[in-house]
Amino acid sequence: NITNKQKRFIQKWHRDFVKDQGNPYLSSEDIAALATLLKVPVYAVHEYIHRKYISPPAAQSTTNFQLDAAQPHMNQTGSKNSNSGYSIRGANAHLSPEDLRLVEAYVKGAKRPRARKDGRRKKNEGPFQCTFGCGYRTERAFDWRRHEETHEPQELWLCHLCRQTREKSPYLVNRKDKFIKHAKHVHKGWEPEHLLSMSNTSFNANMDPECPFCDEHFNSWEDRCQRILAHYE
Ligand SMILES: [Zn+2]
Ligand SMILES: [Zn+2]
Ligand SMILES: [Zn+2]
Repeated sequence: NITNKQKRFIQKWHRDFVKDQGNPYLSSEDIAALATLLKVPVYAVHEYIHRKYISPPAAQSTTNFQLDAAQPHMNQTGSKNSNSGYSIRGANAHLSPEDLRLVEAYVKGAKRPRARKDGRRKKNEGPFQCTFGCGYRTERAFDWRRHEETHEPQELWLCHLCRQTREKSPYLVNRKDKFIKHAKHVHKGWEPEHLLSMSNTSFNANMDPECPFCDEHFNSWEDRCQRILAHYE
Protein backbone atom coordinates (compact mmCIF):
# COMPACT_ATOMS: atom_id res chain seq x y z
CA ASN A 1 0.00 0.00 0.00
CA ILE A 2 2.95 2.34 -0.60
CA THR A 3 2.92 4.03 -3.99
CA ASN A 4 5.97 4.16 -6.24
CA LYS A 5 6.27 7.85 -5.59
CA GLN A 6 6.36 7.22 -1.86
CA LYS A 7 8.90 4.46 -2.37
CA ARG A 8 11.17 6.83 -4.25
CA PHE A 9 10.85 9.30 -1.46
CA ILE A 10 11.82 6.70 1.12
CA GLN A 11 14.74 5.63 -1.05
CA LYS A 12 15.97 9.20 -1.21
CA TRP A 13 15.76 9.59 2.52
CA HIS A 14 17.46 6.30 3.01
CA ARG A 15 20.35 7.28 0.79
CA ASP A 16 20.79 10.44 2.78
CA PHE A 17 20.99 8.64 6.08
CA VAL A 18 23.13 5.81 4.80
CA LYS A 19 25.62 8.28 3.41
CA ASP A 20 26.06 9.74 6.86
CA GLN A 21 26.13 6.69 9.03
CA GLY A 22 27.37 3.84 6.85
CA ASN A 23 24.73 1.23 7.76
CA PRO A 24 21.28 0.55 6.34
CA TYR A 25 19.22 1.30 9.44
CA LEU A 26 17.01 4.28 10.04
CA SER A 27 16.12 5.21 13.58
CA SER A 28 12.52 4.61 14.64
CA GLU A 29 12.19 8.35 15.08
CA ASP A 30 13.09 8.89 11.44
CA ILE A 31 10.77 6.13 10.32
CA ALA A 32 7.93 7.69 12.28
CA ALA A 33 8.70 11.08 10.73
CA LEU A 34 8.69 9.52 7.27
CA ALA A 35 5.36 7.82 7.91
CA THR A 36 3.85 11.11 9.04
CA LEU A 37 5.13 12.96 5.99
CA LEU A 38 3.87 10.30 3.61
CA LYS A 39 0.62 9.78 5.54
CA VAL A 40 1.12 6.02 5.69
CA PRO A 41 1.22 3.72 8.74
CA VAL A 42 4.57 3.42 10.51
CA TYR A 43 4.63 -0.35 10.02
CA ALA A 44 4.34 0.09 6.24
CA VAL A 45 7.50 2.20 6.17
CA HIS A 46 9.27 -0.26 8.46
CA GLU A 47 8.25 -3.13 6.27
CA TYR A 48 9.33 -1.45 3.06
CA ILE A 49 12.74 -0.47 4.42
CA HIS A 50 13.30 -3.90 5.83
CA ARG A 51 12.36 -5.61 2.58
CA LYS A 52 14.34 -3.22 0.44
CA TYR A 53 17.53 -2.77 2.40
CA ILE A 54 17.89 -4.98 5.40
CA SER A 55 16.63 -8.33 4.24
CA PRO A 56 16.19 -8.05 0.48
CA PRO A 57 14.85 -11.00 -1.50
CA ALA A 58 17.51 -13.14 -3.21
CA ALA A 59 16.86 -11.53 -6.58
CA GLN A 60 17.89 -8.18 -5.24
CA SER A 61 21.61 -8.31 -4.59
CA THR A 62 23.43 -6.04 -2.20
CA THR A 63 25.15 -4.29 -5.09
CA ASN A 64 21.75 -2.84 -5.88
CA PHE A 65 21.81 -1.11 -2.57
CA GLN A 66 25.25 0.32 -3.19
CA LEU A 67 24.30 1.57 -6.62
CA ASP A 68 21.32 3.29 -5.11
CA ALA A 69 23.50 4.93 -2.54
CA ALA A 70 25.90 6.26 -5.13
CA GLN A 71 23.26 8.08 -7.13
CA PRO A 72 22.81 11.80 -6.83
CA HIS A 73 20.10 13.09 -4.56
CA MET A 74 17.99 14.86 -7.07
CA ASN A 75 16.89 13.94 -10.56
CA GLN A 76 16.75 10.24 -9.83
CA THR A 77 13.20 10.13 -11.10
CA GLY A 78 14.52 9.98 -14.64
CA SER A 79 12.01 10.62 -17.38
CA LYS A 80 9.44 12.17 -15.07
CA ASN A 81 11.76 15.06 -14.49
CA SER A 82 10.66 17.58 -17.05
CA ASN A 83 13.49 20.03 -16.44
CA SER A 84 16.23 17.51 -17.26
CA GLY A 85 17.04 19.67 -20.29
CA TYR A 86 18.35 22.48 -18.12
CA SER A 87 22.02 23.35 -18.33
CA ILE A 88 23.64 26.30 -16.60
CA ARG A 89 25.52 27.21 -19.74
CA GLY A 90 22.53 26.96 -22.03
CA ALA A 91 20.29 28.97 -19.72
CA ASN A 92 22.89 31.66 -19.09
CA ALA A 93 24.42 32.26 -22.47
CA HIS A 94 24.01 36.00 -21.90
CA LEU A 95 26.96 35.94 -19.46
CA SER A 96 30.53 36.42 -20.57
CA PRO A 97 32.58 33.19 -20.73
CA GLU A 98 34.53 34.25 -17.66
CA ASP A 99 31.41 35.09 -15.62
CA LEU A 100 29.77 31.91 -16.77
CA ARG A 101 32.74 29.89 -15.55
CA LEU A 102 32.51 31.52 -12.12
CA VAL A 103 28.73 31.08 -11.92
CA GLU A 104 28.91 27.48 -12.99
CA ALA A 105 31.53 26.66 -10.37
CA TYR A 106 29.46 28.39 -7.69
CA VAL A 107 26.23 26.60 -8.56
CA LYS A 108 27.88 23.20 -8.85
CA GLY A 109 29.55 23.67 -5.49
CA ALA A 110 26.26 24.72 -3.92
CA LYS A 111 24.43 21.60 -5.05
CA ARG A 112 26.55 19.24 -3.01
CA PRO A 113 24.81 18.30 0.21
CA ARG A 114 26.86 19.55 3.09
CA ALA A 115 27.99 17.63 6.12
CA ARG A 116 25.16 16.73 8.43
CA LYS A 117 26.82 18.28 11.43
CA ASP A 118 27.54 21.85 10.64
CA GLY A 119 29.79 22.96 13.48
CA ARG A 120 28.26 26.41 13.62
CA ARG A 121 24.77 25.17 14.36
CA LYS A 122 23.93 24.07 17.86
CA LYS A 123 20.38 23.18 17.04
CA ASN A 124 19.24 21.17 14.04
CA GLU A 125 15.59 20.44 14.60
CA GLY A 126 12.17 21.53 13.52
CA PRO A 127 9.51 20.51 11.01
CA PHE A 128 11.17 22.09 7.98
CA GLN A 129 13.72 19.79 6.42
CA CYS A 130 16.17 20.32 3.57
CA THR A 131 14.95 18.60 0.38
CA PHE A 132 18.50 18.28 -0.97
CA GLY A 133 19.43 15.66 1.55
CA CYS A 134 22.00 17.40 3.74
CA GLY A 135 20.06 16.74 6.95
CA TYR A 136 19.40 20.38 7.78
CA ARG A 137 16.27 21.08 9.79
CA THR A 138 14.82 24.26 11.14
CA GLU A 139 11.85 25.65 12.99
CA ARG A 140 11.54 28.68 10.74
CA ALA A 141 10.04 28.67 7.26
CA PHE A 142 12.14 31.68 6.29
CA ASP A 143 15.37 29.91 7.21
CA TRP A 144 14.24 26.80 5.40
CA ARG A 145 13.74 28.67 2.16
CA ARG A 146 17.05 30.45 2.47
CA HIS A 147 18.71 27.11 3.11
CA GLU A 148 17.09 25.55 0.03
CA GLU A 149 18.55 28.40 -1.97
CA THR A 150 22.04 27.59 -0.76
CA HIS A 151 21.68 24.33 -2.74
CA GLU A 152 19.82 25.80 -5.69
CA PRO A 153 20.76 29.48 -5.97
CA GLN A 154 17.97 31.50 -7.54
CA GLU A 155 19.70 34.86 -7.84
CA LEU A 156 23.40 35.63 -8.06
CA TRP A 157 25.44 38.75 -7.54
CA LEU A 158 28.93 38.96 -8.94
CA CYS A 159 30.68 42.00 -7.52
CA HIS A 160 31.20 44.50 -10.27
CA LEU A 161 34.12 46.17 -8.49
CA CYS A 162 35.94 43.02 -7.41
CA ARG A 163 35.71 41.73 -10.93
CA GLN A 164 37.59 44.76 -12.19
CA THR A 165 40.31 44.76 -9.59
CA ARG A 166 40.75 41.18 -8.39
CA GLU A 167 40.07 39.11 -11.44
CA LYS A 168 40.92 35.72 -9.93
CA SER A 169 38.05 35.41 -7.47
CA PRO A 170 35.57 38.26 -7.45
CA TYR A 171 32.92 38.12 -4.78
CA LEU A 172 29.98 35.99 -5.90
CA VAL A 173 26.99 35.17 -3.70
CA ASN A 174 23.32 34.19 -3.85
CA ARG A 175 22.16 36.29 -0.90
CA LYS A 176 21.33 39.95 -1.08
CA ASP A 177 22.12 40.54 2.61
CA LYS A 178 25.57 39.00 2.24
CA PHE A 179 26.29 41.06 -0.80
CA ILE A 180 25.32 44.25 1.01
CA LYS A 181 27.66 43.26 3.82
CA HIS A 182 30.45 42.72 1.30
CA ALA A 183 29.79 46.10 -0.28
CA LYS A 184 29.89 47.88 3.07
CA HIS A 185 33.10 46.19 4.24
CA VAL A 186 35.14 45.97 1.09
CA HIS A 187 33.96 48.89 -1.00
CA LYS A 188 33.58 51.71 1.47
CA GLY A 189 32.35 54.87 -0.12
CA TRP A 190 30.13 53.06 -2.58
CA GLU A 191 26.38 53.08 -2.24
CA PRO A 192 25.70 49.39 -1.39
CA GLU A 193 22.31 49.23 -3.13
CA HIS A 194 23.80 50.74 -6.24
CA LEU A 195 26.66 48.26 -6.30
CA LEU A 196 24.12 45.50 -5.71
CA SER A 197 22.14 46.40 -8.79
CA MET A 198 25.30 46.75 -10.89
CA SER A 199 26.38 43.30 -9.77
CA ASN A 200 23.20 41.34 -10.47
CA THR A 201 23.96 38.63 -13.02
CA SER A 202 20.34 38.10 -14.18
CA PHE A 203 21.08 34.44 -13.59
CA ASN A 204 18.57 31.93 -14.93
CA ALA A 205 18.25 29.34 -12.20
CA ASN A 206 17.33 25.69 -12.26
CA MET A 207 14.37 24.20 -10.40
CA ASP A 208 13.20 20.63 -9.96
CA PRO A 209 9.49 20.96 -10.82
CA GLU A 210 8.48 17.73 -9.13
CA CYS A 211 7.18 17.75 -5.58
CA PRO A 212 9.13 15.32 -3.39
CA PHE A 213 5.96 14.53 -1.41
CA CYS A 214 3.15 14.22 -3.93
CA ASP A 215 2.37 14.25 -7.63
CA GLU A 216 2.05 17.98 -8.08
CA HIS A 217 4.37 20.01 -10.30
CA PHE A 218 5.66 23.45 -9.54
CA ASN A 219 5.66 26.31 -11.97
CA SER A 220 8.10 28.58 -10.14
CA TRP A 221 10.53 28.58 -7.25
CA GLU A 222 8.05 30.59 -5.22
CA ASP A 223 5.36 28.02 -5.93
CA ARG A 224 7.75 25.21 -5.03
CA CYS A 225 8.65 26.73 -1.68
CA GLN A 226 5.07 27.45 -0.72
CA ARG A 227 3.77 24.02 -1.60
CA ILE A 228 6.58 22.16 0.11
CA LEU A 229 6.14 24.31 3.20
CA ALA A 230 2.45 23.36 3.19
CA HIS A 231 3.47 19.69 3.39
CA TYR A 232 5.54 20.39 6.48
CA GLU A 233 2.77 22.21 8.29
ZN1 LIG B 1 20.51 21.23 2.80
ZN1 LIG C 1 33.51 43.45 -4.32
ZN1 LIG D 1 3.36 18.29 -2.97
